[in-house]
Amino acid sequence: MVSTSPVATSPLPWAAGGVDLSSPNRNLAPLSTDIDAEGRLRVGECVLSELAQRFGTPLYVIDERSLRQACSAYREALERHYPGPSLAVYASKANSSLAITAVVASEGLGLDAVSAGELLTALEGGMPPERIVLHGNNKSSEELALAVQNGVTVVVDNWHDITLLQELAQGRTEPVALMLRFTPGIECHTHEYIRTGHLDSKFGFDPDQLEQVLTHLAGCRWARVQGLHAHIGSQIFEVEPHRDLAAVLADALVLARRLGHDPSDLNVGGGLGIRYVASDDPPSIDGWVQVVAEAMVAACRERNLELPRLLCEPGRSLVAPAGVTLYTVGSRKQIPDLNTYVAVDGGMSDNPRPITYQSEYTACLADRPGAEATETVTLVGKHCESGDVLLKQLPLPATEPGDVLVVLATGAYNASMASNYNRIPKPAAVLVADGCAELVQRRERPDELLRYDVLPERLRSVG
Ligand code: PLP
Repeated sequence: MVSTSPVATSPLPWAAGGVDLSSPNRNLAPLSTDIDAEGRLRVGECVLSELAQRFGTPLYVIDERSLRQACSAYREALERHYPGPSLAVYASKANSSLAITAVVASEGLGLDAVSAGELLTALEGGMPPERIVLHGNNKSSEELALAVQNGVTVVVDNWHDITLLQELAQGRTEPVALMLRFTPGIECHTHEYIRTGHLDSKFGFDPDQLEQVLTHLAGCRWARVQGLHAHIGSQIFEVEPHRDLAAVLADALVLARRLGHDPSDLNVGGGLGIRYVASDDPPSIDGWVQVVAEAMVAACRERNLELPRLLCEPGRSLVAPAGVTLYTVGSRKQIPDLNTYVAVDGGMSDNPRPITYQSEYTACLADRPGAEATETVTLVGKHCESGDVLLKQLPLPATEPGDVLVVLATGAYNASMASNYNRIPKPAAVLVADGCAELVQRRERPDELLRYDVLPERLRSVG
């Protein structure tokens, strides 16, 4: 095998040896990852290459133990560090499915939905409506109606929401429970597309408008302001912005009280980053919650406020480390002294993060995870797009067509952001635990992709 670029050492935790596999945030692989006697990678005691054979590839694999452990890490950290009431609310945009909803609901978390589709999934997946919040910067009347009819709390993002809700609430005896979202004016270091807390953002009221909105709502018998919400962004490793956020939210609570409201909840949003590559060093769930909780307690004490219910909305840090994607290696293109492209049977349609955010990932071979790398390749997908690159500079042992390749930490913003670009069907997803793999999302078939096309009669039978 000709190597065209220098070979890097494998960044895999088990190859490095002695890495603690007990915290999902500290590691690249799901919690229940191990290697069997034949040297093959397993997750949830299921051999990954066997899953690839049984369910086909690309395949999303979700480790139930990792997901449950992350849920309980949030729950327990809130109980440990926050003396008032609290609730962790899963941001289902990270990965929305009936099975994930059911797991998260059974762990006692709430859920944040941003569309009718996510809301229906949450309700059907068994999430109690009183633990659901509906977000969105341009909710439709139908989406708001679905939330209101089911007793879901609506996070009001703008005046348009208020106008639509006012119409929907006519004739209702019970007021609609609302949370007000505003931009806290906090900058943090993350990709500009996933930064939401700075003032120039499409989400939430400008802080200068808050007084006017709260004054208006104080005169609306149909509305009950249950809480205030601000979110600063996603994939954030710094904790300092959360200290500022607590102060900003506590000030908003003082304002709301002065204007006649009695909100019980302060919601700090999500945003905790995870480890995609060995050099990433995010805080642990416990460390993040500790800072958030202590900052909230301090901010409330300084203002003589009774402790509100503290809500947070983690998405990525709950599901990303629980997921891996399996691909089958196919073609190869070698350009001497320049590059080696190895192609797999998926790419930007099942994982749009690299092309959208230049995100980095870690990958290895399913049956030889610790094998010495002999070349450095560019791992590409099968889409008709030069930018369809999953991983740059990937150190790999020699591969053959048919080898199963594993990309780690794909549990968030992969399945939920998947598209049918090039009319490629979306992958299946399986939930693994204790040696059992259950299908939780069926693989699309190419013929199903034609379901929503309509061919006008006059264009039929041409040719
Ligand atoms: N809450 C809100 C309002 C969001 O916009 C997001 C995502 O950006 C989240 C929660 C989840 O963020 P993360 O997945 O980074 O935890």
